[in-house]
Amino acid sequence: MYRTHTCGELRLSDAGKEVMLAGWVQRIRKFGKMTFVDLRDRYGITQLVFQEKLNAQLDAQPINREYVIQVSGKVVERSSKNPQLPTGDIELVVQHYEVLNPAKTPPFTIEEETDGGEDLRMKYRFLDLRRPSLQRNLLLRYQASRAVREYLDQQGFVEIETPFLIKSTPEGARDFVVPSRMNPHQFYALPQSPQTFKQLLMVSGFDRYYQLVRCFRDEDLRADRQPEFTQIDCEMSFVTQEDVLQVFEGMMRYVFRKVAGIALPDPFPRMSWDEAMWRYGNDKPDLRFDMPLHNLKVRNTSYCEGIAHTGFAVFDQAETILALVVPDAAGYTRKQLDELTAWVKRPQIGMQGLLYVRYQPDGLLKSSADKYLSQQLLQQIQQFCGAQPGDLILLLAGREDKTRKAAAELRLEMGSRLGLRSREVFKPLWVVDFPLFEYSEEDALPGSAGRWVARHHPFTAPKPEHIPLMINHSPIIPPGTDYQDHPFAQIKANAYDMVINGQEVGGGSIRIFRRDLQEKMFAALGLSAEEARQKFGFLLGAFEYGAPPHGGIAFGFDRLCAILGGSDTIRDFIAFPKNNAGRDMMLDAPSPLDEAQLKELHICLRK
Ligand code: ASP
Repeated sequence: MYRTHTCGELRLSDAGKEVMLAGWVQRIRKFGKMTFVDLRDRYGITQLVFQEKLNAQLDAQPINREYVIQVSGKVVERSSKNPQLPTGDIELVVQHYEVLNPAKTPPFTIEEETDGGEDLRMKYRFLDLRRPSLQRNLLLRYQASRAVREYLDQQGFVEIETPFLIKSTPEGARDFVVPSRMNPHQFYALPQSPQTFKQLLMVSGFDRYYQLVRCFRDEDLRADRQPEFTQIDCEMSFVTQEDVLQVFEGMMRYVFRKVAGIALPDPFPRMSWDEAMWRYGNDKPDLRFDMPLHNLKVRNTSYCEGIAHTGFAVFDQAETILALVVPDAAGYTRKQLDELTAWVKRPQIGMQGLLYVRYQPDGLLKSSADKYLSQQLLQQIQQFCGAQPGDLILLLAGREDKTRKAAAELRLEMGSRLGLRSREVFKPLWVVDFPLFEYSEEDALPGSAGRWVARHHPFTAPKPEHIPLMINHSPIIPPGTDYQDHPFAQIKANAYDMVINGQEVGGGSIRIFRRDLQEKMFAALGLSAEEARQKFGFLLGAFEYGAPPHGGIAFGFDRLCAILGGSDTIRDFIAFPKNNAGRDMMLDAPSPLDEAQLKELHICLRK
């Protein structure tokens, strides 16, 4: 009744046919007695021509942008073709049209590019989603989810849903909570992930589980995060780390090939966490370019000859000195270098300054601290870093953690400035052998200079050979000692992250599956036996009924779609996202509850 074809369908071979189309008016152009209209639907755009006779009718029954109309007429070959449009060889000469629904003038242009600001577009998300670019993103998302399901189905995985109204699952963020009307003064938590459920499904014997599932984390939304996001959540029984890595790099290869026609390497390269930190300064190295960090001095151990005693206070007092070699950048101007120095001094990076050495094409080494640094030392640095004539050496000095982080950021910044981070190149890798624990200054245990928190989550197993380090030592860090010297700092886990182009796309681990070890883990994290039972009694109990060895992984699905779509913004791949303040601009949520609702929930608001 409404249409015989879509707006993306008609071709020259259809010329002469009588057809019906329905869609939205994107553009109207009047040319004397003729009116041209671009009609849009999900499938494309077709040009309509209203000739003289109908033009008169248009005055009586006008159409406007975003009107929903239905037209019938004849397909004709266009005299001036539009090679940009798949339908550009033809146009439809309208014989009859009908306005199905008029529209108010939209608050921004609904075309490939728009003039609308972010919040305005979010408020009218249903209009924003009419734009071809966002439609492509959501279609890509759908194709990706289909590819994921196809692959996992072929591999014998079963999709099982798990509840949203649960008791807290720790993934290192704050929980969103939901008050219970039927259980006064009690609250559910929304899952940060289905972690404990998927482990229980292994105890139940489901062997290979997956779920495309919403997760909820009440985090500060800096960077590109959403309070609710989607994971591809997976778990397997009777597997080693090797099995998990094989299955899931296979999944990634399948998805990239199916959705984007891209062949990812087989196998993916692997790098230990230690090596990633040492060479790239973070645990998600962007391998689209090399430019590794050079570790001249680390925690007061010198690796570069001559760096231990230079007579230059900045160097001699620094616990760590790292360098980057920027190829062919010796010609950077003073202004460019001052600007880079300002860049590392920004609060987000927080360094005191940046030293540079130009290795001039004539072989001379010129540094920003020539007064203090001898030619001999500069040569030693140049040789240690393997710099070539024409290169620029950038040096950062300070405490290890901060300096490493700054050097990693500077590496990425230089990679971007040199155009080495193309969106068309995809460099995946596995980072493996993560530390089991992370040191935290906050919430120190009584009598301890801090506490140990789970680097991944408390269900991750230590490497078997490191179990004694965990069970034979107390988590207390004696005040006055360096936490890095505590035995817990040495413990590694069979935990792994998949990284693509410097972004962590997924992470998981081999799990603890015995009650005694899980109890030891909770104790190491400073949970009393009572607290552990209260919070995780269900899991500890399940481990006593024959839990199989198991492990798994979860991927951030929104981020994966953004990477596949060549974008940095996950919002563009979510139909109804929240803004930076966690608000849904369209629904205007969150919003206050009225008194009656609060009363029913037994809640009284604090002033
Ligand atoms: N539940 C973990 C997460 O959300 C993933 C996993 O260990 O499988 O990061």
